[in-house]
Amino acid sequence: MIGMFLPEVYEERDGILYIDGASTVKLAEEFDTPLYVISENRIRENFRRLKEALTRNYGKVRIYYSAKANTNLSILSILRSEGAYIDAVSPGEVYIALKAGFPPGKILFTGTSVRDDELKFLVDSNVTVNVDSLSELRRLLRISKPKTISVRVNPEVGAGHHAHVITAGRNSKFGIYEDMVIEAYRTSKYSGVERFGIHMHIGSGILNIEPFIHASERLLDIAGRIHRELSIDFDFVDFGGGLGVPYKPEEEPLNIDLYAGKLTDLFKRKLEEHDLGEPALCIEPGRYIVCDACILLTRVNTVKVTPYRKFVGVDAGFNTLARPVMYGAYHHILVANRMNAEVEERYDVAGPICESGDLLAKDRPLPRICEGDLLAILNAGAYGYSMSSQYNSRPRCAEVLVKDGRYFPVRSRETFEDLLRGQNLPPWLK
Ligand SMILES: *Cc1c(COP(=O)(O)O)cnc(C)c1O
Repeated sequence: MIGMFLPEVYEERDGILYIDGASTVKLAEEFDTPLYVISENRIRENFRRLKEALTRNYGKVRIYYSAKANTNLSILSILRSEGAYIDAVSPGEVYIALKAGFPPGKILFTGTSVRDDELKFLVDSNVTVNVDSLSELRRLLRISKPKTISVRVNPEVGAGHHAHVITAGRNSKFGIYEDMVIEAYRTSKYSGVERFGIHMHIGSGILNIEPFIHASERLLDIAGRIHRELSIDFDFVDFGGGLGVPYKPEEEPLNIDLYAGKLTDLFKRKLEEHDLGEPALCIEPGRYIVCDACILLTRVNTVKVTPYRKFVGVDAGFNTLARPVMYGAYHHILVANRMNAEVEERYDVAGPICESGDLLAKDRPLPRICEGDLLAILNAGAYGYSMSSQYNSRPRCAEVLVKDGRYFPVRSRETFEDLLRGQNLPPWLK
């Protein structure tokens, strides 16, 4: 009914959009808008599909969920129960992952521009650090003698849906180049480090497998060189995240079996070629796990027709979902309370933020919209809530988790008081 584009947890019943068995109209009435709605079943499906595709061909697989995509505690708990590991990029994410019950041994920290006190916190928390520079490594070794060290390699191949999210290649601030990688492992080994990992993360939103496989091959050749020159064995090889998700109805989803097949084939071939033993094969998906498991519900306040354009004014803006403004990203939009209405207009869908750029969609074909309609913005689970802000002094919105028609508010809407939290007037202004 809704089309191939939408996963099965989305259904249309009597013209209303349902997610994981719950009516979006009812959820919006009960919890108000804007509202992020998360499907537990879809998160589990995404995780299992990926895990099964990889383990079919290689036994030792670890999936590190990249927490920055969405750090909701319930999502982390769901993934913990599925056996996930965690990719954390800040001490705050490590803190949240520990609170969600992940043991420190299942958390890998990959930072950039990391402070000494942050390194201290990571060491004290017993999480594994994946270093991004020789400076970080030297400072880490000065602070403690970690048992395990991993190094983020820049394989000189990048990819991604937008320049901001390409995280390898010649102009990237991330990772360590091959010659310096050797030095990083040599320094670690002579400082008494005993266990090693090797890592790359080349970018985000990749729908074409080739650059990813090409970079993976480079990483494995570099691992081989380190093994030969320094007699280092690897506990794990981590290929990072970046698996893309279609945002537009005409985009093809990534063929996950093809991806897993190519990656594991290459992996096994290179392990043999370089005599690398049997390290764990790790990946770090963020977007792929949560993106299509969540929608943003927003209410239409205003329909405004000017001589030049037609605007639909909604209650979510780039304070709620930053991706359209930040990356020019496309998010598909459905009229959740009138799913069967025919497309007959073109609208700019605008938020309440006082900037002309505050558009969630531009020139978008949609049914004729009425004030009070409920819009569902799809694929909002990754880099949605986690990038939201209080800009324009708008309290952040709520999140609700749904499973088989049951639902629970997993994050409350902020209040005006939250806008003042932590602010203090100096005595001379009182
Ligand atoms: C952001 C990030 C990821 C996840 O990227 P996705 O595109 O969401 O899969 C993985 N690893 C590292 C180091 C990252 O910074």
